[in-house]
Amino acid sequence: MVDKQVDVLIVGAGPTGLTLALTLARYGISFEIIDRKTTPSNNSRAIGIQPRTIEVFSRLDVAKEVLDRARTIEKGNLYFSGQWTAKLEFSRLVTPYPFVTLLRQNETEAILEAALNEHGHYVQRGEALVSLTHYPSRVLAHLESDSNRTIEAKYVVAADGANSTIRRMLALPFSGKSFKESWVLADMKAKWNISREEVHIFFSDRGVLEVFPLTDDTIRITGNLASDESFNEAELRELIEQRSHMDVEIDEVEWFSLFRVHNRMVDSFIHNRVILMGDAAHINSPVGGQGMNTGIADSFNLGWKLWLHLKAGAPFRVVDSYRDEREHVARNVLQTTNVATEVLQTTLPVLLPFQALGADVFTRVNLINQKITERIAQLHLSYPGHSRVPFLRVTEGKIFPEIEIIRTDDGLRTKISEVADGRFQVLVLDDDKRDASALYDYLNDHQSFFQIITLSKTSRPFFDQGNELAKSLFMKRGVLVIRPDGYLLHKQRHLRPEALQATMAAWLPSP
Ligand SMILES: Cc1cc2nc3c(=O)[nH]c(=O)nc-3n(C[C@H](O)[C@H](O)[C@H](O)COP(=O)(O)OP(=O)(O)OC[C@H]3O[C@@H](n4cnc5c(N)ncnc54)[C@H](O)[C@@H]3O)c2cc1C
Repeated sequence: MVDKQVDVLIVGAGPTGLTLALTLARYGISFEIIDRKTTPSNNSRAIGIQPRTIEVFSRLDVAKEVLDRARTIEKGNLYFSGQWTAKLEFSRLVTPYPFVTLLRQNETEAILEAALNEHGHYVQRGEALVSLTHYPSRVLAHLESDSNRTIEAKYVVAADGANSTIRRMLALPFSGKSFKESWVLADMKAKWNISREEVHIFFSDRGVLEVFPLTDDTIRITGNLASDESFNEAELRELIEQRSHMDVEIDEVEWFSLFRVHNRMVDSFIHNRVILMGDAAHINSPVGGQGMNTGIADSFNLGWKLWLHLKAGAPFRVVDSYRDEREHVARNVLQTTNVATEVLQTTLPVLLPFQALGADVFTRVNLINQKITERIAQLHLSYPGHSRVPFLRVTEGKIFPEIEIIRTDDGLRTKISEVADGRFQVLVLDDDKRDASALYDYLNDHQSFFQIITLSKTSRPFFDQGNELAKSLFMKRGVLVIRPDGYLLHKQRHLRPEALQATMAAWLPSP
């Protein structure tokens, strides 16, 4: 017997599942989200929210809440053998959020869940998925709880974390490697003469020490241990002093944990009607703070595709593009964090001078500093399938750089992402000199998919004073289509509809 029918069942209410649930709620898609835990997590795990994720949160209307509660960091310091060597600057990133945001994962989850509740949806807690029955057009999910429900869904999303039940049920290989070294993590209150406004990374012949200021009082430290080392809380002070060459007095350890680092992913993120995302699909070293951010981006990539498929009748290939795009990104993140972890774990004294020299050169040369911070910020990621022009910032398949537009009525400056309403955003740069009626006829006929933003000197509700945007893009007239997740899908330098129609045919339902 089926207890409930929904379009999508989301298994797991971590950051990945919650972001997908919030996205689907905003699109009005029928779904259920369950978690086997009876209460929300109070674990601080991921503390680094990258600029790209804040851009996503802005499109989900939760960025302000996150930024109000978080600490933002613009700079990172690198030290070798206790000597300050170089600075990483996030403040030069091209994004409205040029900083790393530090907030405990349980607080990020609480903000996402509160936003979900405002849409009238609630996580069903204390329900564990125990088995799936697959049919060609649906899946039955059997849940163990006080009431032992069966839910019928068109799609089941596995957002059930690194030990994913669903991945095991489907017997999917989780290929990759596990590092033999353990790492230590501690959130603590400490008396330590070190800036609480910046991140600090100490390289030493004993290993690496990373320091993140969580609040004025509390810091997070992480460091690698030798593979066979046993380690306990009482040894923290010694580890910190040896690697930082500074005195520290620990007042209180709020959370202490030892963990191993794994870099693994499944071969395919979609198996019939089951879609894997977040840690269920890929796990990587916490170095660089990428894991949670990648899971949130997976969800945001899938959400609008499910809207097109389930609500508008677009073909399944739209949903299937999630696979190519996000597998490509996960491979990229795994490679980067793998190299970063190897470098951080290099403790041989003989390598230290080279590391020091390397970091110095890297961070003094602006372009290299920019490349490193862009990578950490997840702003460099692009999707395959477009012929892109290297070094060109505004190009198909890349995140469209945030721009300001001006509201005609009151002159308020706002951002493209802040006015986004979940549809494709079509920016029409209209010089008022050419007849664009055929273009507008096409756009108006498809209003349920397009948010049309005409930008000319006189347009409403937004205008482009002095053609600022047009000038910055070297485009006097033309059309730009930004996907609901903020990536540029299409760019043309004229106002005829045919090329635009051809691009959109791959995404929209056939007439
Ligand atoms: C020590 C540490 C530090 C980290 N630091 C960072 C960082 O700074 N930045 C960063 O980006 N990432 C970091 N990460 C990684 C980050 O925590 C994870 O990537 C993130 O939690 C993944 O989110 P998720 O929603 O995919 O999975 P999870 O957060 O694991 O959530 C999965 C949920 O699924 C539920 N579930 C599991 N099985 C079932 C089932 N059968 N039925 C129902 N529910 C089920 C679980 O109860 C859980 O709530 C860190 C991780 C660790 C361990």
